[in-house]
Amino acid sequence: SKEDFRRINDYLWEIPTSFHPKMQVPVWIFADEEILEDALDDLSIIQAVNVARLPGLVGHVVVMPDVHQGYGMPIGGVMATRVPGGIISPGAVGYDINCGVRVLTSTIKYENAKPYLSDLASVLYRNCPSGVGEKGSIPLTNEELDQVCQQGANWTLTQGYAEAEDLQRTEEFGCLAGADPDAASKRAKERGKGQLGTLGAGNHFLEVDIVEEVFDQEAAEVMGLHTGCLAVQIHCGSRGFGHQICTDYVQNLQFAVIRYGIDLPDRELVCAPIESPEGQGYLAAMKSAANYAFANRQVLAWHTRRSFQEVFGKQDSTLRQVYDIAHNMAKIETHEVDGENLTVCVHRKGATRAFGPGFAGLPTEYRPLGQPVLVPGSMGTHSWILLGTSASDRLSFGSSCHGAGRVMSRHKAKREIKGDRLKGELEHEGISIRAGSMSGLAEEAPQAYKDVSRVVNVVSQAGIARKVARLHPVAVVKG
Ligand code: 5GP
Ligand code: MN
Ligand code: MN
Repeated sequence: SKEDFRRINDYLWEIPTSFHPKMQVPVWIFADEEILEDALDDLSIIQAVNVARLPGLVGHVVVMPDVHQGYGMPIGGVMATRVPGGIISPGAVGYDINCGVRVLTSTIKYENAKPYLSDLASVLYRNCPSGVGEKGSIPLTNEELDQVCQQGANWTLTQGYAEAEDLQRTEEFGCLAGADPDAASKRAKERGKGQLGTLGAGNHFLEVDIVEEVFDQEAAEVMGLHTGCLAVQIHCGSRGFGHQICTDYVQNLQFAVIRYGIDLPDRELVCAPIESPEGQGYLAAMKSAANYAFANRQVLAWHTRRSFQEVFGKQDSTLRQVYDIAHNMAKIETHEVDGENLTVCVHRKGATRAFGPGFAGLPTEYRPLGQPVLVPGSMGTHSWILLGTSASDRLSFGSSCHGAGRVMSRHKAKREIKGDRLKGELEHEGISIRAGSMSGLAEEAPQAYKDVSRVVNVVSQAGIARKVARLHPVAVVKG
């Protein structure tokens, strides 16, 4: 209950280790009072306390304002474990490994584009393969799949799907070192071979937005965000490939838990010591899926570009990448914890990296700004572009929120919201909707999500990210 929280400031709350005898570290929750109360409606806070019981944790478990309950660990959660000495957990990364968001930007004025937006939505829907299966993907041979796993977005560059600048403006430059495709099962590979370059279904989307308001003119300039012009968001991950890898390792690591005598608060938090063969196996497989996802979003960016050319002509349709960011990933990073520089495995599940100015992993033009943080809201409200801050390193292992976060379960949304009616309402508001499934659309209704601006307000007031621009949707493609 609320009495168990210690208020650090208006936007940060702590559950101290005294709350439970087995907690290794405290839990820090970034929230205002309303969001904090919402978080108590589901299992998210209990799950965060469970996470705080895992061996080898450092600092504190972080809960973001877009939190909601997930598999073992809440979505909107961050935990850092000692390397070596700590654990790695597939449930703390999530089923859609390297699910993430890419934003592209243009100089196309909304006013001029308005008559063509419905066409654009149809063309995007036709050109960007979506839905549950393999239709329209770039089929890969076994060798090609291995290359995608090892090279990530670099593979798409060699195949003509990318511009060099896209890779510069991608987290980790679109490729994690140390991926081993052979750590993925045959089943995972079979699923992966047929799904590269597809959006999938459910929560994944491709959206055209207007840059509605800019809050930092200088940064927006560098990022190519112009008020009144169109931008694009692509949200998807590693498709069946990553999902199968998570499924396999959730199962396999149950044995590791027994072998290494790990005291699990919840079976869903299955994990292995990071330096163990099992832990290393998952890490190498996870990296393969992460690289697959970087390549996947890149191919979708390519489909988006050719769709824009089809509608607006070659001349004026240039789409420059702003950034591409992961929000389901584990990464080996160095962080200062209690005055000590530690190597840790930062698990971000429904949370993004948000490193501040000076970070060497950014392209030169972004280094003085900090890392772009991409925060989709919903198909009917807003989305945000933020920048990481140096304070995020101290407060949240260099992390920020990844979205608005659910307030309504998928199940409840499907029961209470009619997809075709919702589509009509959104179209009436000037948002073109193309969706493969009306019940799928209902699950993602704006009412099913928190107010993204409220969430963004928390992270910006808390100082872990700062506002650059707010986007407003005009065309949405869903699987
Ligand atoms: P997740 O990866 O957790 O499924 O979703 C990330 C976030 O995307 C959600 O928390 C939600 O705020 C946002 N979102 C879901 N559907 C849409 C959409 O159609 N358009 C936009 N802009 N955001 C969405
Ligand atoms: Mn996903
Ligand atoms: Mn996602």
